[in-house]
Amino acid sequence: MVRVRFAPSPTGYLHIGSARTALFNWLYARSQGGVFILRIEDTDQKRSSDVFMEGIIADMKWLGLNWDEGPFFQTKRFDAYRACAHELLEKGLAYKDGEAIIFKIPDVKVKIHDLVHGEIEMDNTLIDDLVLMKSDGSPAYNFACVVDDIEMQITHVIRGDDHISNTNKQVALYDALGIRPPKFAHMPLILGPDKAPLSKRFGAVSITDYRAMGYLPQALVNYLSLLGWSPGDNKEFMGAEEIIKKFSLKRINKTGAEFNLDKLRWINGEHIRKFTLDEFVKAGMDFIKPECGEAWFRKFAGLYHSRVKTLVELKEEFGIFMSDDVRYNDDAVEKFLKKDKVSDILSVTRERLEKVDPFTQENIEKEARALVAELKIESADLIHPLRVAVTGKAVSAGVFEVLALLGKDKVIKRLEKVIGAGYGRK
Ligand code: GLU
Repeated sequence: MVRVRFAPSPTGYLHIGSARTALFNWLYARSQGGVFILRIEDTDQKRSSDVFMEGIIADMKWLGLNWDEGPFFQTKRFDAYRACAHELLEKGLAYKDGEAIIFKIPDVKVKIHDLVHGEIEMDNTLIDDLVLMKSDGSPAYNFACVVDDIEMQITHVIRGDDHISNTNKQVALYDALGIRPPKFAHMPLILGPDKAPLSKRFGAVSITDYRAMGYLPQALVNYLSLLGWSPGDNKEFMGAEEIIKKFSLKRINKTGAEFNLDKLRWINGEHIRKFTLDEFVKAGMDFIKPECGEAWFRKFAGLYHSRVKTLVELKEEFGIFMSDDVRYNDDAVEKFLKKDKVSDILSVTRERLEKVDPFTQENIEKEARALVAELKIESADLIHPLRVAVTGKAVSAGVFEVLALLGKDKVIKRLEKVIGAGYGRK
């Protein structure tokens, strides 16, 4: 049975790269009917913190990467590491240096068969002996990792390319302990737009950041799955179930995967579109925590369901409805308000709209169409300035729906403000 693990060190929030590692392990376990284990590698007690550990766990849950065993904590397993180090001491394969226990790396060449990279040959004559237990009594990473992978009966180690240089050391330890190593699959690094490994220079790098930027867990799972893997049929928009069905280690690429925010945003928009209105309302309310009632929010969400690509964009639109002080986009003002006759047109529009009762989309539209005919102008001459006057922007959902949802009071107030500002007067 396939047994894989995700083994984060809680020295920071869940990074995009680590989330991808967690995801590929999870996908492999789920596609093979295997077991996915969460192990917290918290032996670096100076750099580890509970805040990061809890953050990682919360983000894994949010992404839907449920684990079957764990979380296990390395800090609770020092006895096991000590016992194993002593076993190697007794076998004469390790030696003491003060309080520290050091493993004698045999001077041989090791061949690693990597499921992504194929055969990798590494020369252990070139590397130093390996610290197993540090003088402070804590285990070193490579050692704790091997002891745990053995005890947890890990069959496949799926992790980033940056760990290839640890693999020969770990394989030497397996040999010394007389245990067959697991299979290894090293995934290509995620690169920023500058082709360097994704780092803080790039901007947002943690799942927490993307969550705050209004991305959906389904979209991140979908997008991250495509960083270094592809289903082979050019399909990009997929749900987790479909990805699980198509996932295989064989289709992991050898070369770096470039992180592309535009593509993530596109995929996020597609997942938003796939939501039912109920699901979208729920996601929107969870994110925005609006003070309005659900019925109103539902109407609002319906208007923007097909128009936004992130929940932050939805929140911005929501802000326009709630605001008492609309922010006017300079270009939109220049293009649609600072034109001849706009002020006159908006003044009559204001008068007419004030009389519309009830203030419904149909009634507003009827009145506006009549006015257009009366004034002998084009619909666009009324609709564009009206939209900018009430929303501050040149694009929105259908203007009559927007007006109806805003309500008469707000619409009249906003029109008065724009008219008072004297746009369009020479
Ligand atoms: N704690 C290590 C890391 O976060 C895990 C490496 C491994 O998967 O073996 O990079």
